[in-house]
Amino acid sequence: MEFDVVIIGGGLVGASLALALKDSGLKIALVESRPPSPLPRNNSWDSRIYAISPGSASFLQNFGVWQVLDEARLTPVYKMAVFGDDSAARLDFSAYDIGLTELAFIVENRQLQAAVWNALKRQKKKIKIFCPAECASITWNESHAELRLGDGSVLRAALIVGADGLNSWVRAQAEIKVMRRSYQELGVVANFDAEHHHRNVAHQWFRRDGVLALLPLPDTLVSMVWSTNEQHARTLLDLPETELCHRVAKASCHTLGKLRLVTQPAAFPLNFVHVNKLVQPRLALIGDAAHGIHPLAGQGVNLGLRDARELAATIIARGLQSDCGDYLLLRRYERSRKEDILAMELVTNGLQKLFHNTNPTLVRLRNLGLEITNRLPLIKDQLIQHALN
Ligand SMILES: Cc1cc2nc3c(=O)[nH]c(=O)nc-3n(C[C@H](O)[C@H](O)[C@H](O)COP(=O)(O)OP(=O)(O)OC[C@H]3O[C@@H](n4cnc5c(N)ncnc54)[C@H](O)[C@@H]3O)c2cc1C
Repeated sequence: MEFDVVIIGGGLVGASLALALKDSGLKIALVESRPPSPLPRNNSWDSRIYAISPGSASFLQNFGVWQVLDEARLTPVYKMAVFGDDSAARLDFSAYDIGLTELAFIVENRQLQAAVWNALKRQKKKIKIFCPAECASITWNESHAELRLGDGSVLRAALIVGADGLNSWVRAQAEIKVMRRSYQELGVVANFDAEHHHRNVAHQWFRRDGVLALLPLPDTLVSMVWSTNEQHARTLLDLPETELCHRVAKASCHTLGKLRLVTQPAAFPLNFVHVNKLVQPRLALIGDAAHGIHPLAGQGVNLGLRDARELAATIIARGLQSDCGDYLLLRRYERSRKEDILAMELVTNGLQKLFHNTNPTLVRLRNLGLEITNRLPLIKDQLIQHALN
């Protein structure tokens, strides 16, 4: 079977690229190993959530995904309040101060995946979906690449896109080097019903035992992401329900009052992955296949959607006669993404290291740093503008 672009991995990033290319006139295929799980009938809340930036929301709107999300489950974030481990140290960001209506939207993973896959299914004529499908091998030739699936079928394409996540199989097939480091932390997630309304503020505490975020969901619900060392994470997971609520309320300085658990806690390993190159002839990497960052800035999927947006724009702008797997064209995509990715890697790594250090001088300095940044509108503006894209 002949295609122009074969995207491997139908997570949010890979599926969004397929949709962004649907009107490009190119023959697109999407290969996904696992079909997305159906939405639960009981309307229960997903504890895997994303803080989607306004830039990502407008990208998803371009191909009909954002506007079909259930508004009753979407929560705008008007303010962010970040606290140091000295409760007096605080950094605030407000959408109002920069002339916007919101800084981000909190969306459940399940809802977003379902919306993206429903949109894909409506584009059956333009996007050929192979799911569930297992990839067996790729051969790289000068004029095309050939993907062989487990069932023996062969997909020929001018360009293969690796969107298959942190442990990318495509990246390994292309023998692209990665620098990988476990943060030796787990991200513990759970949803709570809080005594006090969050007022659409995303709260975050940089504590000695990790970074705790309570993100607003509709009404008085909040979603927790507590990135913490593996031992502490396992302790949290094993706590009886009331004890866990008490522990989280205490760690968040009782800002939202008493908490009641509404979803069972779950944990995800956290890894830093730096990829040496995003492209080679006939190949481009996007999303977590191209970079793995700490979730403390809530930017992983936003960074990946910016890759998809940029790669789609580069391919569409190439001119009808040109080859979409051409190395020089793909280098243009790589150059345009390097700065954003590097900046996000540096910021998330730097903050993670800084707040894990127990040296008393550093502890005082980092709290002071938060306070000083809070009083410098120019620096605050630059930090926030990056996260809005
Ligand atoms: C605890 C935690 C909290 C987070 N919070 C946020 C947040 O608030 N905001 C944010 O922006 N980001 C957040 N992130 C990061 C975010 O989850 C990831 O950056 C994002 O899911 C990456 O999307 P992706 O599509 O690139 O990869 P994935 O979501 O990993 O999707 C990859 C897809 O490829 C498929 N696949 C894998 N291998 C193959 C193969 N060989 N063949 C075919 N298909 C294959 C998989 O089945 C999957 O569907 C968080 C991460 C964690 C761990």
